[in-house]
Amino acid sequence: MNLEFTAEQKQFRQEVRDWLRTNAPREPRPITEPKALRAFDKAWQQRQFDAGWAGISWPKEYGGRGLSTMQQLIWYEEYAAANAPVASVFWVALNHGGPTLIANGSEEQKAFHLPKILKGEAAWCQGFSEPGSGSDLASLRCKAVIDGDHLVVNGQKIWTSHAHVADYQELLVRTDSSGPKHKGITWVICDMKTPGIEIQPIYNMAGTHHFNQVFYTDVRIPLSNVVGKVDDGWRVALSTLSFERGTAFLANQLELARAVEELIEVAQHHVGPDGVRPAIKDDEIASKLAELRAEVAALRAMTYRSISIVERNNGPGAEGSIIRLFHGELVQKVHRVAMEVLGHDALEFQVKPTSLVWGYLDSFWHTIAGGTSEIQRNIIGERVLGLPKQR
Ligand SMILES: Cc1cc2nc3c(=O)[nH]c(=O)nc-3n(C[C@H](O)[C@H](O)[C@H](O)COP(=O)(O)OP(=O)(O)OC[C@H]3O[C@@H](n4cnc5c(N)ncnc54)[C@H](O)[C@@H]3O)c2cc1C
Repeated sequence: MNLEFTAEQKQFRQEVRDWLRTNAPREPRPITEPKALRAFDKAWQQRQFDAGWAGISWPKEYGGRGLSTMQQLIWYEEYAAANAPVASVFWVALNHGGPTLIANGSEEQKAFHLPKILKGEAAWCQGFSEPGSGSDLASLRCKAVIDGDHLVVNGQKIWTSHAHVADYQELLVRTDSSGPKHKGITWVICDMKTPGIEIQPIYNMAGTHHFNQVFYTDVRIPLSNVVGKVDDGWRVALSTLSFERGTAFLANQLELARAVEELIEVAQHHVGPDGVRPAIKDDEIASKLAELRAEVAALRAMTYRSISIVERNNGPGAEGSIIRLFHGELVQKVHRVAMEVLGHDALEFQVKPTSLVWGYLDSFWHTIAGGTSEIQRNIIGERVLGLPKQR
């Protein structure tokens, strides 16, 4: 692993920094208004595309820049330093759907979808989890049968983030139940405007509408939307999840570093547990803040190592689970310490993306979504450490 940046990378960093400084939106994302949120994220994604900053590591022929993963990392670092908003409505398209198509899609699928994603014209959602099939994803039952040149889908998905504002969905369906559960799954692109799709909201404990239940009744999807082959969806899904557990959370990791520095700043002014001195003068709080800063530095070092592996191996591996696990648990730790710093003031809850209390309530998903901490530990045990498989 080489942690020195080349002259070219340093120049790239400066260009990114200059552009973000003048172009990153300063106003907060309207997180409680789904339509306004989509419009906000779309405008920001479009601005990045128009200026040539969308899809840093995506192939040039589909609208990307064709640059290295290290340059992608530099972009994310400067993005976090500029306090630029994470366009979460486009997150699945940019970090799952797009990369999965690049790796497994047909030429027609790539040519149609990838430019739309980069231009902010198409938001995607992920239809993987079902009631009873989350960690054990391969047990999914949402059924599809072939009828002429279409798949006809009947069943249910749950926890589908942003389904209510999405144009397309990466959908996993059961096309064969006769053999082992990993065989007989198909990965298909579902147009969310297809007749027979019903979306019901689920509100989270921070009071925001982020995810949904999605019901499918005789939903007809062209067979040309299948990515890979019919019954070969598990292989494609594993590649989707490896992107999620690999580089997709980079921006969130770098945001966390900024959150810790902001928390240290708050602790310097907010009155601490003795009711007199700033919180940072409390020995226990000061030592926890120092530990958080050290752990963020460790996370950053692990991220560089992972990027280095990705560059050499041409794709993320199971090691991504180590970072995902460490990051998810650290986000929650940072917000627990934030509640200690705020003390009773934490009870003044406001649904604001900038509020530490909102951040605390929002932090719980980090050890669930995209594979729980227990599942990440299983992956690390089995695929990184070579321990015996779970029975
Ligand atoms: C904010 C958020 C957004 C999400 N967005 C989406 C989305 O857009 N699309 C989508 O498809 N899904 C989404 N999910 C769902 C997410 O992927 C699942 O919640 C997750 O995979 C866990 O599945 P589950 O909820 O069914 O829990 P379960 O699998 O039922 O797990 C329950 C508990 O049992 C433990 N457990 C289960 N199996 C094992 C095992 N083998 N070994 C050890 N422990 C085990 C788990 O760790 C957990 O603690 C989202 C979730 C959250 C929180």
